[in-house]
Amino acid sequence: RIIVDGLGGCVLFGPDENDLARYTARRDEYTAWESHTRRTAHWPAEMCDGVRVAVQANLESLEELDALSRCGADGVGLYRTEFAYLKGDLPTEEELFREYAAVAAKAGSGRVVFRTLDAGADKMLRAQAALKEPNPALGLRGIRFCLRHQGIFRTQLRALLRAGAAGNLALLLPMISGLAEVQAVRRILQELRQELQAQNLPHAPALPLGVMVETPAAVMICDALARECDFFSIGTNDLIHYLMAIDRNNRHVSYLHEPLHPAVVRSLKRVIDAAHREGIGVSVCGELASDPYGLALLLGMGVDAVSAAPRFVPGMKHMIRQLDAETCMDLAHSVLMSTDVMASQRMLREKLHQFLGTELAFHTTSLSSHSQP
Ligand code: PEP
Ligand code: MG
Repeated sequence: RIIVDGLGGCVLFGPDENDLARYTARRDEYTAWESHTRRTAHWPAEMCDGVRVAVQANLESLEELDALSRCGADGVGLYRTEFAYLKGDLPTEEELFREYAAVAAKAGSGRVVFRTLDAGADKMLRAQAALKEPNPALGLRGIRFCLRHQGIFRTQLRALLRAGAAGNLALLLPMISGLAEVQAVRRILQELRQELQAQNLPHAPALPLGVMVETPAAVMICDALARECDFFSIGTNDLIHYLMAIDRNNRHVSYLHEPLHPAVVRSLKRVIDAAHREGIGVSVCGELASDPYGLALLLGMGVDAVSAAPRFVPGMKHMIRQLDAETCMDLAHSVLMSTDVMASQRMLREKLHQFLGTELAFHTTSLSSHSQP
């Protein structure tokens, strides 16, 4: 007999009767909690003091759309478009248009934020792999690749503009590190709209244009970027790696993946405040949004929306309904003042335990799981 404790991250060989009774009770509690969160998934994510946040889904393919209606998400905060490109041949405009229009139709009135092709680093196209860049994570990825290979980019943007004729769509640009990249995309979009107009093809007159904040450069110029775009989405997966100067696939330095590092916490605050000062919305679509400690911190910093894989959405909404904005603000303030990661973790754990009790353990966290060198 073996017990696999997926929540605690351990395996028990040859459990005795006591272990069996303990873990059976634990499993039953977890299953009851999970089905409760699923039953209430469509309730709004409103905190005890009435503050609401949008909880959206991150999707990667058309097939995942069924999960969208079940999980109670307020639209799609991040649709990763790489999938169609990683199959082999480059997709045609018609193929992309069909995919994007189907996604938008299935999402109904909910907005779908389509991130434009983010190839490179951990998501390599065959043509990119052939470049043999010495360090692809710092190379021609995301918007850099698209602006270099404009044929591929223009095909995708045309498909998105056409799908936008009928759906509620927004565009999101990955790996932005300067204003010029956003301005270049705006010029291309203008040209493509004229092209589509001349061809009498129905298309969206204008789509909201957002920027992923996932490079340290974007954090440093977030005030100027906020004036150049319509919304921000903070990609904490990459942002943490680039801030800490670690490769996201290098296990030797994974212990430095520390979401509560003061550099990360201060960056998040800086970006959220800049967005609000400039009057644009800000969401977080990296994994930090589904981490209970990260979620509490982000709520306390006043983020407008969080976005995560559909399986996390019901639990996140349930957790948000158990918290209040003022407590989260105090917590965020304390974490911002702290330069001691362990102390920040302790503060978050103790406060969240007060509010969530033993349920805290039912949320997945990446905190405290890395051993120091
Ligand atoms: C991120 O970087 O946080 C993100 C959401 O994008 P991806 O993980 O696809 O790079
Ligand atoms: Mg990213």
